[in-house]
Amino acid sequence: TSFKDYALSEDIIRALDSLGYEQPTDVQMEVIPLALARKDLAVKAQTGSGKTAAFGIPICELVQWEENSPQALILTPTRELADQVKHDITNIGRFKRIKATALYGKQPFAKQQAELNQKCHVVVGTPGRVMDHLKRGTLDLERLEYLVIDEADEMLRMGFIDQVEAIINELPTDRMTLLFSATLPKDVEKLCHRYMKSPVDIEI
Ligand code: AMP
Repeated sequence: TSFKDYALSEDIIRALDSLGYEQPTDVQMEVIPLALARKDLAVKAQTGSGKTAAFGIPICELVQWEENSPQALILTPTRELADQVKHDITNIGRFKRIKATALYGKQPFAKQQAELNQKCHVVVGTPGRVMDHLKRGTLDLERLEYLVIDEADEMLRMGFIDQVEAIINELPTDRMTLLFSATLPKDVEKLCHRYMKSPVDIEI
């Protein structure tokens, strides 16, 4: 299997080439075609499996450059992961000029607000700060089409699940939702049932 087997545009293929990604990993083989078809997915996959690109590639493909408000939201449990995901999305979307913005605590609101006022296709953030921006009206997610919940079990363990639910309740219901988790405890499964449309279960 090669990335050329998927319905990916030249800009994305070229970026994967320049990153040295020659072949899709197992999780990428399962996720990319279904995500490109906008299916909801509950994916059990570990860090190191290539899970970030598994959602990053279809999101960079699906996002429309011309659109001016954020089209994708990726929720992560930690600042470090938010920065890493932003970095990976920026790399995958470089030839398409995809702009990703990271939102997390311990960083001035004003700086993040200024970034959100620029072109921003993809928002990557921790639940607390994303919720704060929503409450302040500095983040507009009315045009959101793609939601990723990354490391859902960590989110649960760190006590962020209520905030994740509060954010989901603010989003358009006509969207694709992808959930990634190393394990699938009951409360993560509940989240899938409550907020996803007949999710396809993928286990790596
Ligand atoms: P992740 O599971 O998202 O933390 O990714 C683990 C590492 O694999 C990262 O350093 C990625 O850059 C790398 N990676 C992801 N997909 C591929 C691929 N198809 N080929 C080679 N390396 C990859």
